[in-house]
Amino acid sequence: MSHQSYDVIVVGAGPAGSYLAYELASSGHDVAVFEERSAPGLNACCTGIISTECFRSLDPGTEVILTGAKSARFFSPSGRCLRLDTEKDQAYVVDRLLLDKAMASKAQSRGARYFLASRVVDIIPGRDGILAEVVCSGAREVFSARAVVLANGLRPRLSRKLGLGTIKSFLVGAQTEVEVKDADEPEVYFGQGMAQGSFAWLVPASANRAYAGLLAGSGAKLQLQKFLDNLFRQGRISCRDAEIRQKPVPVGMAPRSYGDRILVVGDAAGQVKPTTGGGIYFGHLGARIAAQVLDQALDSDDLTAGRLSRYQKLWRARMGKELSRGHWARRAYARLSDRQIEGIFSILASGNMTETLLNSGRFSFDWHSWLILAVLRHTCAHPVRKIKHLLSCEAGS
Ligand SMILES: Cc1cc2nc3c(=O)[nH]c(=O)nc-3n(C[C@H](O)[C@H](O)[C@H](O)COP(=O)(O)OP(=O)(O)OC[C@H]3O[C@@H](n4cnc5c(N)ncnc54)[C@H](O)[C@@H]3O)c2cc1C
Repeated sequence: MSHQSYDVIVVGAGPAGSYLAYELASSGHDVAVFEERSAPGLNACCTGIISTECFRSLDPGTEVILTGAKSARFFSPSGRCLRLDTEKDQAYVVDRLLLDKAMASKAQSRGARYFLASRVVDIIPGRDGILAEVVCSGAREVFSARAVVLANGLRPRLSRKLGLGTIKSFLVGAQTEVEVKDADEPEVYFGQGMAQGSFAWLVPASANRAYAGLLAGSGAKLQLQKFLDNLFRQGRISCRDAEIRQKPVPVGMAPRSYGDRILVVGDAAGQVKPTTGGGIYFGHLGARIAAQVLDQALDSDDLTAGRLSRYQKLWRARMGKELSRGHWARRAYARLSDRQIEGIFSILASGNMTETLLNSGRFSFDWHSWLILAVLRHTCAHPVRKIKHLLSCEAGS
């Protein structure tokens, strides 16, 4: 047993944990980051699509970019295609291994200390400090700090043990990397038979490689295997037996993201877009707010739950409404039949609605609630005969 002391211990070297470590170390605090993997980002299960705005704010260096995305194709259950095209890149596909390593290097350059292959197995809050029990190469060590930040993804054990409650609602994301023909822009596939309650994707990572994946309420791996079989039959991919990784994606907010000497950020707090399952940007915003609140709390030596509750107020004010609307839209989508989804595609394809939305000046890769409301308004205001058609399709299904 040894005792080393820090201002802040961060559990997890994902994008949220390392960005927070970077900010706090830049403000002059002593920061230690514990990561159970032997390298940040190793074997990450993620497509790595982030908006250009998120990329600029993380500032990991251009070497992490695999490709840019300025257009995408969306497929209805019957295979009808809607293509969205913009003049400039809206997003980048980044290599998650390189991104996580770059974010860790940035934090280290400001003095944060990284402990790799080191799993935090327990957190013990006390009156004058907080302890983290860590297992590293089979040996147990205890480290102390003034505060701990959980940035450990959707792993509820520590949050539950600390009495913070757990996120009850989640989807499962499954993904594999495939060699692919003719994939030059992201493709998104809808339909309950394709990905129950969500969608599947094929996202180019380089000239002939792509990520094939999907999000689903249950049976994600099986549904991805079916998707791969389809792509194989179409001659798009040459092999359908690549290794599939899967990971839970939270679709709800943590009941509590603070406690005495404790904050929770990123996936662990439910800072994830419910519409797409993308969590890098919102986790980044959460980490930035956490760093501001913690910096002030450390300076004033008040790390009580009362003081740290400001963090939850601030991050929910910034993204709470967006998350609630996204959760509502996702649940509504999960109840639609394939025929209803087909009907929505028809309405979106009619007139020039997609162009109008894209060119409205309000389109955002990260903030979707405006888009949800705009699509709802448009579909509800659509000529009665088309809505009737939708309903009659449903009745006949
Ligand atoms: C298939 C799939 C595709 C996705 N695609 C995208 C995408 O294109 N864009 C996007 O924005 N998001 C995407 N996401 C979501 C994204 O991966 C997460 O939102 C993001 O990684 C969350 O970052 P984080 O730092 O909060 O947690 P994580 O990235 O999960 O990092 C947590 C870290 O903590 C470590 N850890 C856990 N427990 C402990 C412990 N006890 N001790 C020490 N270390 C520990 C883990 O090893 C891990 O490195 C995708 C998710 C899935 C499943």
